[in-house]
Amino acid sequence: MRVYNFSAGPSMLPVEVLEKAQKEMVEYGTSGMSVMEMSHRSKDYEAIIEGAEALVRELMHVPDNYKVLFLQGGGSSQFTMVPMNLGNKNKKCDILITGQWAKKAAQEAERYITVNKIASSADKTFSYIPKPDKSEYSKDADYFYICMNNTIYGTKFNQLPDTGDIPLVADISSMVMSEEIDVSKFGLLFAGAQKNLGPAGVTLVIVREDLIGNAMEQTPVMFDYQIHADNGSMYNTPPTYGIYVLKLVLEWIKEKGGVAAIQKINEQKAKILYDFLDSSKLFKGTVVPEDRSLMNVPFVTGNEELDAKFVKEAKEAGFVNLKGHRSVGGMRASIYNAMPVEGVEKLVAFMKKFEEENA
Ligand SMILES: *Cc1c(COP(=O)(O)O)cnc(C)c1O
Repeated sequence: MRVYNFSAGPSMLPVEVLEKAQKEMVEYGTSGMSVMEMSHRSKDYEAIIEGAEALVRELMHVPDNYKVLFLQGGGSSQFTMVPMNLGNKNKKCDILITGQWAKKAAQEAERYITVNKIASSADKTFSYIPKPDKSEYSKDADYFYICMNNTIYGTKFNQLPDTGDIPLVADISSMVMSEEIDVSKFGLLFAGAQKNLGPAGVTLVIVREDLIGNAMEQTPVMFDYQIHADNGSMYNTPPTYGIYVLKLVLEWIKEKGGVAAIQKINEQKAKILYDFLDSSKLFKGTVVPEDRSLMNVPFVTGNEELDAKFVKEAKEAGFVNLKGHRSVGGMRASIYNAMPVEGVEKLVAFMKKFEEENA
């Protein structure tokens, strides 16, 4: 029996996607082989990777002057690739510290360039998005970096910093294609696939063309966006099967009506959960309302023993992976695209019952 999986990542995939992959597992189309066994230079595979790119462009309305790349190394490798490729002019970037992933990105960038931490929400356990005045931004930064949705703390930039001509770079690992994003407002966007796009192993990068081709001298060839752009993400063997499943997920999103339609469903799901948290006497959301994430919803009872009891009983009832990140405790429900509305409704019904029993 499949459970409702609230994992922060890797996370739920649409069951329709898994079933399609299962059907095509042993023999893909008329190829006589599995996608896993195919040469990445074959006609069949070419159609898969080109189809995946076309769907990213269509679903996210990617302007023509942006490259769409399928890379490896996870979101974490982008913490290195971004400064090595984009930080080679003034060797300086601005960053807002909104949690662990932004901190890690800053730490890694500091190995190569000067990193100005413009503001941080560490003072309140990253429960809000800092909104510093524009006058605090560096005038000569090569780029301005944010983690747009903070997977661990459940915050999201609902308003982007106005960086003017300075390219905005955003880690959208845990919110990619969950809501509409105006790609033209960014210099670079990246997302590990395992939260909203497919299996772990693929990283989607969308980068404005004029920002590549200026990598630092010592940049490893595999870390140079230009190399991957020039070779259609096939400089070396790409994560072939992961890209194939990602394409199936994109087809599923398209079938649902595209990102705008998915966003409506995500807003509905988040509202069900936040409305309950706001009215509950036992459970409480940990994030200030205006900065709440649509995808990751942390909450607590205020009593660690009761939290543990809830996580255990929820698991027994078929709601799994609700334990909060080890650095914050409490609970966290990750409600990515593949989580159906029904899963959230049933979770809330379970929480109500738990509240009555433990009042
Ligand atoms: C999961 C996550 C990462 C790390 O991704 P890896 O693919 O494990 O390197 C980075 N940033 C955000 C926002 C994430 O949610």
